[in-house]
Amino acid sequence: MTDNTVDVIGGGLAGCEAALYLSKRGVNVRLFEAKPLWFSPAHKNAALAEIVCSNSLKSTADTTASGALKNELDILGCELLRIARECSVPAGSALAVDRDMFSERVTAAVRASDRITVINEIVEDIEPSRITVLCVGPVCHDKIAQSLSKLTGSDALSFFDAAAPIITADCIDMSNAFFGARYGKGGDDYLNCPMNKDEYLAFYDALVNAERAVDEVGGVFEGCMPVEVMAARGVDALRYGPLRPVGFRDTGKPYAVLQLRRENTASTLYNMVGFQTNLKFGEQKRVFSMIPALKNLNIVRYGVMHRNTFIDAPKALNADLSLKKSENVFIGGQLSGVEGYVESIATGLLSAINAERRLKNAAGVTPPHETVLGALVAYITTPNTDFQPMNANFGILPPLTDVKKSERKHAYYLRSGNAMRSFAENVLQ
Ligand SMILES: Cc1cc2nc3c(=O)[nH]c(=O)nc-3n(C[C@H](O)[C@H](O)[C@H](O)COP(=O)(O)OP(=O)(O)OC[C@H]3O[C@@H](n4cnc5c(N)ncnc54)[C@H](O)[C@@H]3O)c2cc1C
Repeated sequence: MTDNTVDVIGGGLAGCEAALYLSKRGVNVRLFEAKPLWFSPAHKNAALAEIVCSNSLKSTADTTASGALKNELDILGCELLRIARECSVPAGSALAVDRDMFSERVTAAVRASDRITVINEIVEDIEPSRITVLCVGPVCHDKIAQSLSKLTGSDALSFFDAAAPIITADCIDMSNAFFGARYGKGGDDYLNCPMNKDEYLAFYDALVNAERAVDEVGGVFEGCMPVEVMAARGVDALRYGPLRPVGFRDTGKPYAVLQLRRENTASTLYNMVGFQTNLKFGEQKRVFSMIPALKNLNIVRYGVMHRNTFIDAPKALNADLSLKKSENVFIGGQLSGVEGYVESIATGLLSAINAERRLKNAAGVTPPHETVLGALVAYITTPNTDFQPMNANFGILPPLTDVKKSERKHAYYLRSGNAMRSFAENVLQ
């Protein structure tokens, strides 16, 4: 491949960021977009970079992971964030946009580049000999999903997101929790949150009556049933399922026990075992905080049950976002196993940085682990037998235990910015 051209497939958030980055760097881009020939169930607007749901790109605060990720993207020269600010509408410390204006301006920026050729086509096959940035999103056309599946192996692509909430370790009240696996299988791998009868019944009542999000899935699979659906089968169903209070020694006689499983090697995050859920986000926080050990609950990734095509990144992706089995093909956006608008833009940008490097025969790069983007990539590419997509949060960063808790979030923000500045100085000359 010597023609100084990269193919970007998908003109959504990630694909437009990738195309604009590459064109700025003097690379020619063929940007393929299926609209208006075909619209996914989530897309309605023929313009590029459509914001499909909420118009919020989340917080800009310098004490949030979302704010830190935006700061990192600014350092890398992110175009879509710059345009988002031009189209912002008042939303407190969040960055919310006028979605139509945003799409129009991104489309105009893409069209204004004489290096980008937009081709309206439903791409059915990925051509592995061409340097390609694949950003077809979580509701992509079936044909391209099949082609990707051929490249990666069918078990490396998921079509359904059934995730339990992930919470931070530091919110758990350890005076109400204990380590240990059921029947001693697994040492201290699990952290257990017991409930007595009254606590369980109050929790149960709140759970079965909590407000659910729209059922996008259309029915449930027995193998991964939402916890609230299982609960509705009878007051003791959970006590024979994920909350069974058996197999523990020397812990009194709890009536029900929720298990938390370590989510990362630093043990800063825990997964609520068996708690995949379709409850509205506010309801998850309200109801799950009724478990005594979780009274100060801090959820970094809410439970969801929805259609979502994503790659099994730990199996399929290298740390430069190229496919292990087809190294000219880079995966950006939600398809790469991240979750969220800004996260999608971020992996679109990183896959473009690496596609340009591939064009120039330079080695692939990943931002340092201290950055939110680097930590996200580390998270999605670390072996994980139950991989689910991840969004920006401080729990995936190397912990800053020597900083006072009240100052820690801002310290994460500052450290991530410094790390990204060094990365950008080295990589983007
Ligand atoms: C219903 C829904 C609601 C969501 N709500 C939110 C939210 O509120 N907040 C949030 O932060 N995140 C949300 N997300 C998650 C995610 O942030 C968005 O999906 C985001 O748009 C992902 O960006 P992307 O660039 O990866 O994909 P997209 O923005 O979806 O872009 C993919 C593009 O590829 C095109 N395409 C697909 N197949 C082909 C093909 N074969 N050939 C050519 N073009 C193709 C599509 O037409 C589309 O334009 C939501 C996702 C979904 C599905």
